[in-house]
Amino acid sequence: MTAQLIDGKSVARTIEVEVAAAIARTGLHPGLVAVRVGNDPASEIYVRSKARKAQELGLRGTELIFPETMSESDLLAEIGRLNADDDVDGILVQLPLPKQIDPQKVIEAIDPAKDVDGFHPVNVGRLHLGRPTLVPCTPAGVMLLIESTGIPIAGANAVVSGRSDIVGKPAAALLLQRSATVTICHSRTSDLAGMVRQADIVVAAVGKPLLVTGEMLKPGAVVIDVGVNRVDASFATRIGHDADKSRLLAKNGSVLLGDVDFARVREVAGWITPVPGGVGPMTIAMLMKNTVMAAERRRM
Ligand code: NAP
Repeated sequence: MTAQLIDGKSVARTIEVEVAAAIARTGLHPGLVAVRVGNDPASEIYVRSKARKAQELGLRGTELIFPETMSESDLLAEIGRLNADDDVDGILVQLPLPKQIDPQKVIEAIDPAKDVDGFHPVNVGRLHLGRPTLVPCTPAGVMLLIESTGIPIAGANAVVSGRSDIVGKPAAALLLQRSATVTICHSRTSDLAGMVRQADIVVAAVGKPLLVTGEMLKPGAVVIDVGVNRVDASFATRIGHDADKSRLLAKNGSVLLGDVDFARVREVAGWITPVPGGVGPMTIAMLMKNTVMAAERRRM
């Protein structure tokens, strides 16, 4: 069996078309402010691509950049200003923050109605209570990718590997809301393979390349690979069986892998997301969707 590819770019494009249509219909041009403190190169790329996508779809995307030395109280004051600004519908603070700033305090300072990342405890609480809310973007995207396969989620066994606040826990809550039977695995799980073998749906969100192998998998399972791991030539032998990744590694000196051994899992799974081109494009699309939702709730 060779799994069908779940094309994250194409599902994300559908969301973007919906976002652009909602903006045209409502006449709202939601304001999204991305806050970045310091000059972490990865954060710079993420924030810029979010602001660019916002502008492309008709949102007002702004990037606020502060120096690495910014104090916690100054950032909290800035969040307070954005909360009070009626033109701002969505606020996101790019993590990680410099060490003098407590990320939890910053997240809790954001008005829950503008918390388009869905990280504020009020929104987290609503999610776990099954109430409508702003849901974290990556797991919300994961759900749409699973839905795109058409498999029944209710009654399915789902295994989520990883229990972070931004991916694993909310993904598990969303699957539970859809009546899957959910198992959450983490670093202390004693038999990951045994758990994964029971699963009709596997969400891998760990950050360890090649963690999920073909032998672990139930034939026909839906595999959503959230992991993003850049590996270098020291991985050449371990990915020797994957011709595409090996070629990219030889060409570029490094290559992106998910948490799933794509080449082997593909032979067993029913559906699988590639890395890149699976979950990644969904995250930004869902951020835009959340911002439109936040604007509609606040202003209509
Ligand atoms: P994280 O905060 O580091 O959490 C990793 C989780 O994996 C933890 O809960 C950890 O368990 C668990 N874990 C560690 N070793 C494990 C093992 N052997 N078996 C099962 N679970 C294990 O990471 P994250 O922020 O959730 O991100 C996870 C991955 O997704 C990363 O590669 C990240 O880059 C990627 N990501 C991608 C996107 C996207 O848009 N594509 C968005 C967000 C994240 P403990 O809790 O016990 O430590």
